[in-house]
Amino acid sequence: MSSSSSAAATVSAEVAANCGLGKQQRRRLAAFDFDHTIVSQNTDTVVRDLLPTELITSNALNRLENDSWTEYMAEVFRMLHAQQVTEARIRDTIRGIPEVPGFVRLIKHLHKKLNFDLIIISDSNSVFIDEWVRAHNLSDCFQAIFTNPAEFDENGLLLVRPHHQQTDCKLSASNLCKGRVLEHFVIEQDLRHNIRYDHVFYVGDGNNDICPVLRQRACDFACARQGFAMEKHLIKNRNKLKLRANLLIWRNGFELLEQMSALPQLQLQQQLKLSMPTVPGGATVESQSQSLALNNADCKAEMARRASAAAGPTQSPQ
Ligand SMILES: [Mg+2]
Ligand SMILES: [Zn+2]
Repeated sequence: MSSSSSAAATVSAEVAANCGLGKQQRRRLAAFDFDHTIVSQNTDTVVRDLLPTELITSNALNRLENDSWTEYMAEVFRMLHAQQVTEARIRDTIRGIPEVPGFVRLIKHLHKKLNFDLIIISDSNSVFIDEWVRAHNLSDCFQAIFTNPAEFDENGLLLVRPHHQQTDCKLSASNLCKGRVLEHFVIEQDLRHNIRYDHVFYVGDGNNDICPVLRQRACDFACARQGFAMEKHLIKNRNKLKLRANLLIWRNGFELLEQMSALPQLQLQQQLKLSMPTVPGGATVESQSQSLALNNADCKAEMARRASAAAGPTQSPQ
């Protein structure tokens, strides 16, 4: 390696050598929102609705709703505890939320058949998501779940802490910038595990799913639920927003799986993978396809830019 190599490349090589991971892996990533994307309701409001109506509509609660959702839910959990709604009842309620049709199948198929890495990025909390995911036998499918960490204390009160504190991103709430989480995950996979994603899919429905898709590359896919806020916002502001990713609109998991399975980008790699023996020395299959190689060249440049940005401050401005 020449001395002019970027800091990021040096870090990457060092990490790879330390971990004994010489060979780069090329994979695909799908990142999912949770509420109204994987599950058909909002986990927070479903649990809130265990309260008697007069408490839900009370002033004590309503004045918090406009302020901060996290504070609002903290009060909801205190009220549930005061009403003696048990941990078991809350967990039962979460498990009973139906999937958005086809999502359990979609997740299993992407994980087992299409060689995807899967993550969840959600503003719900770890207790709700873990409970639902475990009940639907999906725990093994996810590499990571990024959300607000939560636990029941010894008295049975559910305590939720913010995922992080941020003020940089105006598109996102202070406790969770999904775009930042997604970027960090992709860079970490590269630097720590030598895994590069040829295509990143982001699947969501809400306004807090706009930030991550605006950071996506031209080889990525923004998958927005039809008729929901994310889709409406992206369509309405299409010219202004400068979305680089390809836009996929879906109504349910079956339809999204169909659309993803039909993508030429994924098809070609599947076929090549089946027909091409593994080449020693790490030659990559996409070099067989001009169009894909071109597309991936853009992505590599973008990846290198982000990796060097993440590796530390630039020595001198270019
Ligand atoms: Mg959502
Ligand atoms: Zn953000």
